[in-house]
Amino acid sequence: MKKFVYAFEEGCKELKSLLGGKGANLAEMKKIDLPVPEGFTITTEACNQYYVDGKQISEEIVTQIEANLKLLEAKTQKKLGDSNDPLLVSVRSGAVVSMPGMMDTVLNLGLNDLSVEGLAKLTENRRFAMDCYRRFIQMFGDVVLEIPKYKFDKVLDGKKEICGYEMDTDLTATDLEEIIAGYKKIVKSEKGFDFPQEPKKQMMMAIEAVFGSWNNDRAIVYRNYNEIPHNLGTAVNIQSMVFGNMGTTSGTGVAFTRNPSTGENKLFGEFLINAQGEDVVAGIRTPQKIDELKDALPEVYQQFVDVSAKLETHYRDMQDIEFTVERGILYMLQTRTGKRTAYAAIKVAVDMVDEGVLDKEEALMRIAPSQLDQLLHPTFEPSALESANLLAKGLPASPGAASGKVYFHSADVVRAREQRINTILVRTETSPEDIEGMVKAEGILTSRGGMTSHAAVVARGMGKCCVAGCGEVKVDEENRIFRIGDQIFKEGDYISLDGNTGKVYSGAIKTIEVGLTGDFAKVLEWADEFRTLGVRTNADNPHDAETAVKFGAEGIGLCRTEHMFFSDDRILSVREMIVASNKVNRVKALDKLLPYQKEDFIGIFKAMGSRPVNIRLLDPPLHEFLPHKDEEIGALARDLGVDFEVLKSKVESLSEFNPMLGHRGCRLAITYPEIYEMQVKAIIEAAVYCKDELKIEVHPEIMIPLVGHLKEFTILKKLVIDTATETLKALNAEVVYKVGTMIEVPRAALIADEIAAEAEFFSFGTNDLTQMTLGFSRDDSGKFLDEYVKKEVFDKDPFESIDQNGVGKLVNMACELGRKTNPSIKLGICGEHGGEPKSIEFCHKTGLNYVSCSPFRVPIARLSAAQAAINNPNLKK
Ligand code: ADP
Ligand code: MG
Ligand code: MG
Repeated sequence: MKKFVYAFEEGCKELKSLLGGKGANLAEMKKIDLPVPEGFTITTEACNQYYVDGKQISEEIVTQIEANLKLLEAKTQKKLGDSNDPLLVSVRSGAVVSMPGMMDTVLNLGLNDLSVEGLAKLTENRRFAMDCYRRFIQMFGDVVLEIPKYKFDKVLDGKKEICGYEMDTDLTATDLEEIIAGYKKIVKSEKGFDFPQEPKKQMMMAIEAVFGSWNNDRAIVYRNYNEIPHNLGTAVNIQSMVFGNMGTTSGTGVAFTRNPSTGENKLFGEFLINAQGEDVVAGIRTPQKIDELKDALPEVYQQFVDVSAKLETHYRDMQDIEFTVERGILYMLQTRTGKRTAYAAIKVAVDMVDEGVLDKEEALMRIAPSQLDQLLHPTFEPSALESANLLAKGLPASPGAASGKVYFHSADVVRAREQRINTILVRTETSPEDIEGMVKAEGILTSRGGMTSHAAVVARGMGKCCVAGCGEVKVDEENRIFRIGDQIFKEGDYISLDGNTGKVYSGAIKTIEVGLTGDFAKVLEWADEFRTLGVRTNADNPHDAETAVKFGAEGIGLCRTEHMFFSDDRILSVREMIVASNKVNRVKALDKLLPYQKEDFIGIFKAMGSRPVNIRLLDPPLHEFLPHKDEEIGALARDLGVDFEVLKSKVESLSEFNPMLGHRGCRLAITYPEIYEMQVKAIIEAAVYCKDELKIEVHPEIMIPLVGHLKEFTILKKLVIDTATETLKALNAEVVYKVGTMIEVPRAALIADEIAAEAEFFSFGTNDLTQMTLGFSRDDSGKFLDEYVKKEVFDKDPFESIDQNGVGKLVNMACELGRKTNPSIKLGICGEHGGEPKSIEFCHKTGLNYVSCSPFRVPIARLSAAQAAINNPNLKK
């Protein structure tokens, strides 16, 4: 018989995929003798079995659950639903990967009209018992019976208003009894049956609801966003309750062993006296700082400090902990690796190496490359900030700076985003239903909730700027406004958020980029010690090139020359060249472009110094450079002094049904060699100038795009060499340069051995290679690709992460074939994939020499390349 249920003492942290994160860590905490309330875990396999069985919990699983419940009752010496001394449990979901707020939990299960009286008598605390019962009905009603939460809130808030109470804790036992009666009415009218009184039935219903919640919409959105597989399933934990709502020596809290925003090595967290767990996370009352627990409950505080230290030592990583204190006794309810900002991730990694806890390799593996993006995010320009109008201050929940238009509902943010509007999601508090809006917004502002509220935790995980718990902001979601004092802000008004300070400003504020310094720089230097892949950048201008060098780029892997053609001072000459009716006129126009191109290359060479610079000769179809509207064509005709009709028919003749597969790349130069001749001349003259005048030994690599046939390459290689030789001869100079090709047409990969015999380098243009291999264009695939990813035809957008089985196979083959005929050939990648961690690992394994990516991805690529090397130690070159 398969084991579907584990008592906590039977588990351990290694069983995470079976017990879920929560269950495995509860078991582990028990194993190291921390105070954990008794309980058991129903495995993720049981969840998957539930779906296999057509959403039914099988006989076999039910039997195992019942047996474990008996054991739990024996251990606690209480009986579920007993009318004198009832065992109460929580039913807690626990996915393998922590999904904050995504899955649902029910507390105080086992209460009914009888056992609540027993609990009241036993604890001599009627208010407490009624508080548990009303919480239970509310949570059960929401999570299991799927009755909208606000219906319950309305009853509770209504009662508070009538009585003139501020806090939930002001409610008396009698008030709570009335609320319970109101809740039951809601259940009856919504569901047509009475609130279930039979505890075992309550439990089975709750378990089923947790299994069901694995596939609720927000869980699916969260998994999609975080690339968590949908087939992992969730475990369910049944745990005997401990009560933080038993008075002033009870309470509940959440803490991190280090500061998750800054990484500072200091206990960081919040607690609430006389409250149950979900109160802190839901941000219902604004909690106290963990330090204040020292005064409130000194012994508990000391014990908590010790437990936290023990946990961090045991797990060797920063922990995120949930605890509850019941009448002065501390219980641990959860621990997991703490989510942190990129800034904190780096500081914790560096500190832990200094503390001797981790070695550099482990430290590097702890930092998610994609997170580094956050550190390269803008902050507000100090001068712009000085003159900014400060509105309010909340908690600095997640760093970064964001400006945008205010929206109050997730769906409105999503809609605005579709129109490319930058948005700030403003809410009283966020809940898992808001997840999509949070993904799409630039920043998040909430008026309630602390540093561990839903908004704060989720925003930090996403690296999104968030200001939480900003009490001065009074949000009226229904009317789509918020007030600060007597100022009113409407939907669509601009505000700005500083997630580092918690400040909220009116209007939009200018931002600046940040640099690579301190611990960040240190971590990347460590990465450089381990990585064997080179990291270059894709840059078309000196500014981008300089930025990339600052971030550690070792060269340019792709300099696109067409971007230079578009600027105002040259587009006219470019167009003149294109519409020229014969070679003489074409060359005349190209001669005008030459000095510009030369200047461009000098600028880039200066920025790159002696690092290699790979320049791709003109690639796009000429049509892209021409105007298409009649009035623009008319204007151009006047500028060029040609007849409108003649020009119009020229434009039309150049238009293509499928430009991606049209007259572009090397095909342009086969028909109009003078274009590449001009470009090569400009490159060589620029290189000579840098060498002779600036004393920079430049290393140009001249790249011919879109080659699919050997002959294309040999014809153009000859053109490059002849032009370069002639240019050098005229200048009486010498420059070392390389000639190579892109591999982006599948045929080129197939005959890579032939091409490699002639080429000095290959650069895999995986954007085009992906389009041509898959047979769909990047520009058109938007219409169906989402659905393809949803239906798991692809795990991921193949334009984002390289399709390893298909396109990757071509890359692999081309490398092998190429090295066979030219062992010293240099191999690189310059498609978007060059900055994507999974693709970078692929490039490492394939044995490429370098990846090339946009300047802001260079740090990500350095770290990813190091992780790839650490993950694949036997591939070390
Ligand atoms: P989530 O994954 O959303 O944090 P949890 O299962 O951790 O959900 O539970 C929600 C809240 O209820 C937490 O604050 C937790 O500490 C509290 N809680 C869960 N089980 C118990 C229990 N047995 N006794 C007391 N509090 C509990
Ligand atoms: Mg929790
Ligand atoms: Mg291309």
